Amino acid sequence: MKQALEWGEGDVAQVHETVNRFCERRLTAVEVRRRDEAHEPPYDLLPEFAELGLIRAPLPVEHGGFGLPWGQFCLIQRRLAYNAYFAASILNRVVTFGAIPIIRFGTKRQRENILPRLLDGKALVCLALTEPGAGSDAKGVRTLARRKGDGWCLSGRKTWISDAADSNYLLTLCRTEGETGLTAFLVDREIAGIAMTSLGKVGNHCMPSWDIGLDDVLISDECRLGPIGEGFSVIDSALSFSRASMAASALGTARAAFDLAVSHAREREQFGRPIGHFQVIRHRLADMKFEIVKAELLVEELARRIDKGESVAEIAPMAKLASTETLRFVTEHGMQILASAGYALESPMQRYWRDARLYTFGEGTSEIQREIIAKTIGL
Ligand SMILES: Cc1cc2nc3c(=O)[nH]c(=O)nc-3n(C[C@H](O)[C@H](O)[C@H](O)COP(=O)(O)OP(=O)(O)OC[C@H]3O[C@@H](n4cnc5c(N)ncnc54)[C@H](O)[C@@H]3O)c2cc1C
Repeated sequence: MKQALEWGEGDVAQVHETVNRFCERRLTAVEVRRRDEAHEPPYDLLPEFAELGLIRAPLPVEHGGFGLPWGQFCLIQRRLAYNAYFAASILNRVVTFGAIPIIRFGTKRQRENILPRLLDGKALVCLALTEPGAGSDAKGVRTLARRKGDGWCLSGRKTWISDAADSNYLLTLCRTEGETGLTAFLVDREIAGIAMTSLGKVGNHCMPSWDIGLDDVLISDECRLGPIGEGFSVIDSALSFSRASMAASALGTARAAFDLAVSHAREREQFGRPIGHFQVIRHRLADMKFEIVKAELLVEELARRIDKGESVAEIAPMAKLASTETLRFVTEHGMQILASAGYALESPMQRYWRDARLYTFGEGTSEIQREIIAKTIGL
């Protein structure tokens, strides 16, 4: 494989030029539609991302990364998601569910064994948190880790886990017998006792969803990620980076939906003039742009605080809430502006609209984001 491109802080323009060229070459409208209709996941893009240096881009230099500011990574995510949300999403997952938790909480051995494969785009980690009885109430997980000799025996069920069957490892959270708190494990997907069933859904067809049964899965203590009883911090750190990246990606797709609505408003004529001349349409487009720009500013501020090492307790849920609700708003009105033209399978608007519906609840619902914000107010 070719040597990955090496990015540093001074190479920002070059990074964006590279990502632009990648989008124009690999994420054409025809290709994105083909993948969506074929329900084809973008795992083949991971080695290409590695070769372009995109997986290493936001990671610390001392762990093989290029130390590009998080704000720049968010711009890369926005650009990828402008063409294909699934491309931004798979890059997000390899970085935030795989590399970041291992860098922050992994043992020397986990870092040596797993990290290089993630950075080379040869491995994937899924986040197996949600359970049938534990969605928003993530601390309510029932999957149990019992001591078995020097290791652990896991049993329980996880659901709606993206990419699980094609991941090399499951980053999972378990109740730990005899201990308070929850514990995180990095479980090899090939190990005996793991059964997976595919789940059907209305959108995000390039991101397969799985129900996972863990039936007396025997793992060694080396699979534990972070201290016993402190697993929630591991998952929380993965999710806080992932939500920042997801917020940026949502805005990339929101821009694409907005641009499509604007061009339709210019071209489509009714009653002898372009529909964009009707005030109700003009004002709707103005509101769409207003919401996008507000959310972009919040995501930029979140990235700035991440880069400065400042607290993001308040701004992270705000950015996730604003960007995903903005995407929902923009695709809802985008669909109305395109009307029948947007409802046709040939139009990307129907895909933006279907996919967007997930993000106001995936990785934490809008209601839970408001709850987190309310807690920072001291209520
Ligand atoms: C396509 C898809 C992919 C996913 N990928 C993954 C994945 O890779 N890994 C993973 O672990 N999970 C994944 N999930 C699960 C996802 O994160 C959960 O759906 C999400 O956390 C919400 O949980 P829930 O669906 O059980 O909703 P619930 O928690 O049952 O919530 C139902 C409703 O009640 C509201 N509600 C709940 N509690 C409160 C409260 N305290 N105050 C106010 N309102 C409340 C919610 O906001 C929501 O409106 C995925 C889900 C989908 C659909």
